[in-house]
Amino acid sequence: MKLIDNIKGGLDKISVETLKERAEAIKNALPKVSEKKEEKPETKEEIPEDCIKCPSCNNIIEKKSLGSLKICPNCAKLFRMNAKDRIKAIADEGSFKEMDINMEAANPLNFPDYSAKIKGLQEKTGLKDAVKTGTCTIGGYRCVIGVMDSGFMMGSMGSVVGEKLTRVFEYGTEHKLPVIIFTCSGGARMQEGIVSLMQMAKVSAAVAKHSEAGQLYVTVLTDPTTGGVTASFAMLGDIILAEPKTLIGFAGRRVIEQTIKQKLPDEFQTSEFLLEHGFVDAIVEREKLPDTLKTILKLHNCKKEVE
Ligand SMILES: [Zn+2]
Repeated sequence: MKLIDNIKGGLDKISVETLKERAEAIKNALPKVSEKKEEKPETKEEIPEDCIKCPSCNNIIEKKSLGSLKICPNCAKLFRMNAKDRIKAIADEGSFKEMDINMEAANPLNFPDYSAKIKGLQEKTGLKDAVKTGTCTIGGYRCVIGVMDSGFMMGSMGSVVGEKLTRVFEYGTEHKLPVIIFTCSGGARMQEGIVSLMQMAKVSAAVAKHSEAGQLYVTVLTDPTTGGVTASFAMLGDIILAEPKTLIGFAGRRVIEQTIKQKLPDEFQTSEFLLEHGFVDAIVEREKLPDTLKTILKLHNCKKEVE
């Protein structure tokens, strides 16, 4: 009772005058915020269309100078690669044969605007969904490959990504071929709700069958690999490689800090931190990935292309 009385007493003291004062103070603070906001677009506009500002070294560089591997010429920062460029960089020339090219997402929950969003992204990216899959050779060794693309709804995993990757493992199991997956994902696709979440179990089950058949599975974690993808097939590889300075995690940093009420180290959720703690087997520079994958396939007696 005493507590309630105290609160009541406190409320009485808040007069209309003090409320007015507070409102005035908030009003005064507002213009400063909007002034700050206006500054940002101005600096952005200065960058010509064919150039890009490197978020790491802050230099403005020509997009062309990033080269086919999308690496900053000044500081070696790795820019994100789309699935098409990645396959070009990894697979032997002309060896890639795409699977399930036309598989498209339905809208199982009738999520507002989802179908329109998918259609818009299909036109913009030339992809049907966030993963490209197929067979190819790397250094002459046959394999099944899946490459996720952050340009399509941040590489989120819905029914199409889950089904295409499941088929990759099923094909690998049936034809006794190794599987290589390049992960890049914001996690499960919320527009597909539970249908999206069940893909984690579905792909993982296919990974297990492929493994029971004695076949090799290699994951290459690229920036960013998070959420339901990390929590399923990304971390199930027999060998887990990662690119340098890649963001790899499940929940976001802030959520974890709020939950455990502790400050996390700066390098937390980077590939370097995960290597140190045993979650990643090796960090491989982008230009060395084809050779590294070739060596891994060779060491595991994988099949060469029909000679
Ligand atoms: Zn740079």
